Amino acid sequence: MPGTSGWPGAIPLGHFCFLYPFDLPTATTLLPSRPDTNAMRLSSLFASRLTCLFISAYVFPSANAQDRTTEQGEAQISDPSVECTPYQYPPVTNARNNFPPSWTVATVISGDSEAQAKYQDIESSIPNIPPKGTQPDSLVGDWGDFTYDPSDPDCWWTFAKCTTPKIPGIPDDIAELPEPNTLGYGFDDGPNCSHNAFYDYLSSQEQKATMFYIGSNVMDWPLEAQRGLADGHEICVHTWSHRYMTSLTNDEAFAELWYTMQMIKLVVGVTPTCWRPPFGDVDDRIRAIADALGLTTIMWQYDSNDWRFGSGNVTEADIDANYMDLITAAENGTFSTSGTMMLTHELNNFTMSEAVKFYDQLASAFSYLVPVGVALNVTTPYVEDGYTLPSFAEYISGTHTGSVTGSADGSSDGSGIGSSTSSGNPTVAKKSGATKVSLSRAGSFASVVLIAAIQLMS
Ligand SMILES: [Zn+2]
Repeated sequence: MPGTSGWPGAIPLGHFCFLYPFDLPTATTLLPSRPDTNAMRLSSLFASRLTCLFISAYVFPSANAQDRTTEQGEAQISDPSVECTPYQYPPVTNARNNFPPSWTVATVISGDSEAQAKYQDIESSIPNIPPKGTQPDSLVGDWGDFTYDPSDPDCWWTFAKCTTPKIPGIPDDIAELPEPNTLGYGFDDGPNCSHNAFYDYLSSQEQKATMFYIGSNVMDWPLEAQRGLADGHEICVHTWSHRYMTSLTNDEAFAELWYTMQMIKLVVGVTPTCWRPPFGDVDDRIRAIADALGLTTIMWQYDSNDWRFGSGNVTEADIDANYMDLITAAENGTFSTSGTMMLTHELNNFTMSEAVKFYDQLASAFSYLVPVGVALNVTTPYVEDGYTLPSFAEYISGTHTGSVTGSADGSSDGSGIGSSTSSGNPTVAKKSGATKVSLSRAGSFASVVLIAAIQLMS
């Protein structure tokens, strides 16, 4: 490609995303297993270990019976191979024909009049910029046959790390944050089927993050997606099939965003208003489509490159060094006037383990680790009314969870996680800080106390 020295050329990104629905089930966790705090509380009441085991079997029937029907049951599973065994979730199964197949480039579904109407509505706002490269090679970042004007007329991030659109009227990408000494804490590529230990860890630190979910993963692992919101994290879009967005046609790019938004709405009950382009591959055409769908484009300034671990010569020491670069920069006062973001992933057990490994150092190097939306004071992060995030001031003064009001429009999944309504808003009880022991388990608990007491007497 003339005049573009330093051009990445055919970016060797055999991305894990296309593999991990299949390779994760065999992964072994590097993380501690889920702390069973309720069991620990019980063990102080009953001296006999055998009795405690007995109690545990009754109090946590879903954990032992591996309840794969509710977010709460799924969150109890600590064996990654069990977590990553596929399950059926009726609201998704029943709607599957209304969505593109997993991990294929999304297109508008035939007969989907709502999607068609929305696309027609926004089509005139899409700038006339052709897709970059030639499919299928360009889908995986092979731009070998593509010639691009070195003046970067399209503000193509992949080419020039451009984040301020050349076309007027399109909002800038968010790459840095207004709050000093602040890290916008987030993870791409989830929900990962074996994320329970990682999410448990975040909960143990009362740490919230921004989760950039892939639509295909949400469809394949809906209960894991529900956990993201239930745990108080912010949910953003990371496209349907994780392709290079600038290589897609207008309607494909639209469908990648649209169906991810719709799947998150179906499963989690909310429609996000933020997205992050896979590989950061965005230009003014893609930005315009995202903007027309109400999505703010979130980028990053530092890259952990955690997802490259195991490919080529990339070692754990390389990823550690990337984390340390950010930590050292923070310690040196680099972010004394504005905050930043680093690209990290909920991709596999290695990337999640790295996040755990460096959590304490990040938390001490930065004054604040907060979800991106919190750093931006986006207190109403979803299209639906009733869900809030804390403001930055609220978060740093100790309020880490937003609120969910009764008017919130829950998903139609009927999972009833901690909810007394059949409309199945899965987050009400947990976001308000209620215990994870559901009513049915509380009932089990009462009967077990009786049984245990009888055992102790005998
Ligand atoms: Zn990604």
